[in-house]
Amino acid sequence: MRGSFARPRLVFSACLNCEPVRYNARIIEDEFCKKLAEHVDVVPVCPEVGIGLSVPRSPIVIVFDGEKRLMQKDTGQDLTKRLVEFSADFLEKLGAVDGFVLKRKSPSCALSDATAYRFSENKKLVLKTSGIFAQMAMEKFSKAAFIDEFRLRNFWLREHFLCRIFASAEMRGMFEGGFTKMDVLKFHERYKYLLMAHSPSLLKKLGRLVSNLNALTLADLTREYSDLFTMALTIKPTKAKHFNVLQHIYGYFKDRVNDVEKRKLLSLLDDFATGSTSLTKIRAIFREYARKLHIDYLLDQRYLSPYPLELETDV
Ligand code: SF4
Repeated sequence: MRGSFARPRLVFSACLNCEPVRYNARIIEDEFCKKLAEHVDVVPVCPEVGIGLSVPRSPIVIVFDGEKRLMQKDTGQDLTKRLVEFSADFLEKLGAVDGFVLKRKSPSCALSDATAYRFSENKKLVLKTSGIFAQMAMEKFSKAAFIDEFRLRNFWLREHFLCRIFASAEMRGMFEGGFTKMDVLKFHERYKYLLMAHSPSLLKKLGRLVSNLNALTLADLTREYSDLFTMALTIKPTKAKHFNVLQHIYGYFKDRVNDVEKRKLLSLLDDFATGSTSLTKIRAIFREYARKLHIDYLLDQRYLSPYPLELETDV
């Protein structure tokens, strides 16, 4: 288990590195998306091509005249019904997924920043909104993680997204395979500090659940554990919560290292608190100490290795 990761199943907007399906027949080359795709199972989708539009095509816009509609500017075609039907069918047949990586600003795929125009004054901006496919996906898969290629460039948003999808895939793998109550207990142990960084109160609730394993059927355990676990991972960790977890981990080192190393680790914690050391760096150093001091319990903690090393970045 240590050092290996379940492969999350992610829906990608097809124009992100997959196929040249944009209105101008181009593809978006995004380095991080490319790297991410190597560690996940990608389900590409282009809703606009899915409803039969050509590549290239004249651009689509959202117009807002009481309700949100998808219009092709040049032809004046109202594409809303076709796109809604395609999206409903695609999402219905999709099966289990851990997340979505969608294209920003698209009237079909944007999470929140597509521009909507007032119908009678075509170019007048009225609001920023989600694309029609994205909105339906967020409603149907409310527990999945959603991000776009722009947000993936922000360290903390990327970190949260990656933690969620890899944790979700690992939990899904456990519950979809033949598992025992002991597997759930071990899984919970491995995720203790990652859960603490997201939600100490839900960590406690999950702890109470797994301490009462004999009272639960496998079906109840699956439902209750996965609901609470997913809810916990949805909560964004704060720097203060990370600091708290890092202090707990430091607690394992302090009596095993000499005074010089103790001072070094404490000053590292200070640097993290003041922002001069990144989470990635302190995690790598703590991993190294856990290895050097043979603390298996820490080496097994997902908090220190929440996703593949190749996806770790400093900023
Ligand atoms: S943003 Fe969505 S609809 Fe537009 S080209 Fe990309 S995948 Fe297709």
